Amino acid sequence: MWKLWSLDYLKTKLDIKSTINLFLIPAIALTGDKVIDYIFPYKSLILKCFIDSATHFIIASLSWNYVGNLSIYKRTHLFAVFMCGLLASLIDIDHFIAVGTMNLQVATTLPHRPFLHCTTVFSAIAVLLALLSIKMHSIPYLKLSLIITTAIWTHHWRDGYRRGIWICPIGSTPPYWYFLYLVGLVALPLSLHFVLRFTSELINKAKNQGLQPVYFI
Ligand SMILES: [Zn+2]
Repeated sequence: MWKLWSLDYLKTKLDIKSTINLFLIPAIALTGDKVIDYIFPYKSLILKCFIDSATHFIIASLSWNYVGNLSIYKRTHLFAVFMCGLLASLIDIDHFIAVGTMNLQVATTLPHRPFLHCTTVFSAIAVLLALLSIKMHSIPYLKLSLIITTAIWTHHWRDGYRRGIWICPIGSTPPYWYFLYLVGLVALPLSLHFVLRFTSELINKAKNQGLQPVYFI
């Protein structure tokens, strides 16, 4: 009885923590965007870029912390949270690669969007990896695919409210309403958490039924 009660208590505690985590995502985005709006680029472009990068990092980290909170391995989970944030903030490195210089002024005034901002390619890679994980009965591959999706989509979705989503080679969607962007930041981890749970159960079921995994590599 005590055990059951404590399990229920733990579950409620986790649910409250997860809900706070989930709603912290749009709150951080809102704060980051407002701070950036108040920093004039001619005063401190480096500070503006740093806050922008840090906002991408925190949003992606919190999102993965929500998506992957089923993990029982806390250290591995925290490492994944950090890596997801790092991946999301490193995407903007393509600005420097595209202009071939580390000059911030030149990199931030690029007339077109650089290659790491193409949503189609990374989404296709993540979907392929997810399909591979199902075939190979591999939860780590599934998580890797969802970490990539979380990092890429949180970054592109945040950039997108100003510039739209770049579906290369077709073109770009128009920029969207700020409120929709905030709603999307909550909907994304919610949906990916569902995908992780559903697909993990599918893989575990296949394992329990003794179905043989298919190895491609
Ligand atoms: Zn960007």
